[in-house]
Amino acid sequence: MPELPEVEVIRLELNPLIRGKTFAYPLLHIPTTIQHPSSDLFALNLEGQTIQALGRRGKYLLFYLNRDILVVHLRMTGNLIFIGQDDLPRVERFLRIELPFIDGSALHYSDMRRFGRLWLVKDSKELETLVLKNVGPDIYTELKAEQFKTLLKQKGKKNLKALLLDQSCFSGMGNIYTDECLHLCHLHPEQQASILTEHETEKLYQTIQEVLKMGIECGGTSFRDYRNASGALGDFQNKLSVYGRKGERCSCGALIEKTVVAGRGTYYCPCCQIKRCNGNNNESLKR
Ligand SMILES: [Zn+2]
Repeated sequence: MPELPEVEVIRLELNPLIRGKTFAYPLLHIPTTIQHPSSDLFALNLEGQTIQALGRRGKYLLFYLNRDILVVHLRMTGNLIFIGQDDLPRVERFLRIELPFIDGSALHYSDMRRFGRLWLVKDSKELETLVLKNVGPDIYTELKAEQFKTLLKQKGKKNLKALLLDQSCFSGMGNIYTDECLHLCHLHPEQQASILTEHETEKLYQTIQEVLKMGIECGGTSFRDYRNASGALGDFQNKLSVYGRKGERCSCGALIEKTVVAGRGTYYCPCCQIKRCNGNNNESLKR
């Protein structure tokens, strides 16, 4: 948390609010939040730069400035909130970085657990080598269905949950949306990827696109800490069919279970999502 839809919602919201604005000198309350360069250089170099465009890859938010690229990864509990010129001062308990603009507005980065990081890199080459070295194409905006199929074959020994969470294959999927997509496709999270039929692979790809789109349209999923750029909650948590619903009924009537797959808490329906054995491609799922 937050996953691709939450970061995309923040990007879409911030874009009209901050594009064209010029940074003043930042206040680094927790300097270790700055991953690159040193916190002193970060502050010096950021001041005076103007935001030209906002991009994203997976869960990384990219601010294209007139010289450099500012990168933000929110990790577990990071929040990026826009503060307008006329907004009343607010108490932010976990405020780590203040990024004021010369017009009096600001971006506030707060983070309870302090895992989030900011970078300031010189160009797209440095972006790729320093920040996104192990981050695959964005599953929502970059990865095509054919590439998805190929990757699933190449990495077929992995189980589906581990594969979808592996940001080096393709980026953006996290725990919540992965569980939801596998449930909608009636695929067991521990299912080895290589035994999916062509049709199942296509359906999984389409489902991922649709679920991410719906997540974005709902303003993201709010569990615990996520807020969008104006501090509001998302709505997708009300549409989840398995995630966070252990012991509740699936639409098929069975009780949703929770287990651990790929080191992550994983929700699934033991009736809809049956694990198949290797070499047993055509076994139809019991419903
Ligand atoms: Zn079910």
